[in-house]
Amino acid sequence: MDKLALLYEYQQADAELEAFEKNLRNTQTRKQLIKLQNYLKKQQAVLRDMENRALVEQNALSEIDSQYDRMIELLSKKHKNIDEYESVDPQVLDYNVVRDLVHEYEMTYENIVKQKNRALAVQKRAEETDARLKEILSKVSKAQKEFAELKKQHEEELRSDSDTHEKLKKAAELAASKVDPALLERYNRIKQNRPMPVSLLKDGRCMGCNMELPSRDLAKLKKDGAIVECENCGRILYLI
Ligand SMILES: [Zn+2]
Repeated sequence: MDKLALLYEYQQADAELEAFEKNLRNTQTRKQLIKLQNYLKKQQAVLRDMENRALVEQNALSEIDSQYDRMIELLSKKHKNIDEYESVDPQVLDYNVVRDLVHEYEMTYENIVKQKNRALAVQKRAEETDARLKEILSKVSKAQKEFAELKKQHEEELRSDSDTHEKLKKAAELAASKVDPALLERYNRIKQNRPMPVSLLKDGRCMGCNMELPSRDLAKLKKDGAIVECENCGRILYLI
């Protein structure tokens, strides 16, 4: 067998191995795994965001709580002041002072109602956040379970494919060992830019790019052992 025939044989084994490996990387299970992985990553970001929001809401609630406590305290103090005036003789009672006191009491009371409404609104938001968080967490845990099952399935697929994979690798190695090392190097160099570096020549045309070969190259190719690359695509030409 000549040098080119051996190289061509190696190319076939190489291509078969590559196609098999490409399939391994693109199985349905693997695609689903990657999709799930991306989903989980996105949900992690959403969860982080929601945790921050929950924290902010909680802080707002405890802030309102302490303000509320302070106001209740103020209210009861003012209440006590008013009570004290009740026992005072109406003759000596200063109408303006009492009016101001009642006004302050009312204002404090109004503030308390406002604070209470604010607290209720924040609490409602916090409850909504909590409900959404629970919903997302349940979806995430479902996705995680699915991910684990798919991963197991993927590993099983890989195991069952590994025999065929080994066989193809050995065949490619064996075919490569028969090829002239300098020629193999040339093949690998071309392969960096062109798939299937060895191209058949048919009716004077390179089957890799369909360009017609100049007659001087054709004559050179027909000479024993001459290696000719296609002028257009750079592939090594092989004439059966
Ligand atoms: Zn070509």
